Amino acid sequence: MRGTRAYIFQDNLRHNLGEIKKHLRPGTKICLAVKADAYGHNAVAVAKIAQEFGADFLAVATVDEGIELRERGVSAGIILLSLCTPQEMPLLFEHRITPLVFSQDYIKCLSDCADSYFGGTSARHEVHLAVDTGMGRLGCLCDEAAHQAEMISSSPHLALGGMMTHFALSDGISSEAQDFTRNQYDDFVRAVQSVRSAGISPGICSCANSAALLAHPEMHFDMVRPGIIAYGYYPDEVTRDYLAALGIQIDLRPVLSFESEVLAIRRFPAGKSASYGRTWTAPRETDIAVLPVGYADGLLRRFSPGVEVTINGRNYPVVGRICMDQCMVDIGRDNPDVRLWDRAVIFGPKESGALHTADDLAVLGGTISYEVLTSISKRVGRYLI
Ligand SMILES: *Cc1c(COP(=O)(O)O)cnc(C)c1O
Repeated sequence: MRGTRAYIFQDNLRHNLGEIKKHLRPGTKICLAVKADAYGHNAVAVAKIAQEFGADFLAVATVDEGIELRERGVSAGIILLSLCTPQEMPLLFEHRITPLVFSQDYIKCLSDCADSYFGGTSARHEVHLAVDTGMGRLGCLCDEAAHQAEMISSSPHLALGGMMTHFALSDGISSEAQDFTRNQYDDFVRAVQSVRSAGISPGICSCANSAALLAHPEMHFDMVRPGIIAYGYYPDEVTRDYLAALGIQIDLRPVLSFESEVLAIRRFPAGKSASYGRTWTAPRETDIAVLPVGYADGLLRRFSPGVEVTINGRNYPVVGRICMDQCMVDIGRDNPDVRLWDRAVIFGPKESGALHTADDLAVLGGTISYEVLTSISKRVGRYLI
């Protein structure tokens, strides 16, 4: 086993899912976002745990991600949150993947594909109609929804299984952000009503991502679509403190730990520099631990200077530039607490011995926990514990 690896603390995932459930009205469905390999956590493992837990749907971003889940025995509903190519459409039918639709051309193409796939049977494949209420990404405009729903339900082998919209600012806490989210929600309600008025059942309606799930319980509709909170992180400004001020209690625990190990310990005399560009020079005689983790593993180059690793309960700074496959850590001269092959934890839950979380790295890198988590690359093995 390579020294650089990620552990998935399954009980923390179950704990977070339990915390999410506490915030839902009975009967509210859950669609867990497992796109991008479950935010870097291993989609198959996460999907199986979510399914045991009673999640109704899993959300993926590509057809391949959906197929991987089916081939590994996942039976829950799978929603494709992005668009696919006409060539991929038969795969949606074959693997029971529910696509988002919102344009006449796309619905027409999908309908023709469904005709040739299901021809001669009475099968209908469910789709979810996406409405763009302000995200400015995918979706039809509010007042086009009824017409699109009619196109879907008049296609012989398609059926409207649900409607959805996505918030652009639900993780903001300013009054402008809240107003924008409320307007998006009101527009979505109007779109759903217009479909009903056209005599078509809108199916399972959803709009709440993690931030809205926590901060706007009145926006849960039939189904919520959490992602980041299941993995143990608060969405941007919707933090523990902000929620506590609203009287909302939720305890989230990071699920993934990102770890490496001390591969070599080298004595550096004062004045010797470490790594490319010679951005760091030993100010005094010291010992440098070399770790086999670099930006190709997801320890992004922009995290240094600033990033620390935790070895046996203490933090030590990464010094100099992070390389593709290695980085250097100043452990101080003759440090009895750091030995060859000791674990060096970059971030993770308390149980991993980490003193930092993905949020700490996000602050250093000017990004969000989502990007820190999904940057952990394929060559880092994921181990369930
Ligand atoms: C990724 C995604 C979610 C989950 O978002 P979080 O902020 O992680 O909760 C929900 N809905 C859609 C459409 C998404 O793309």
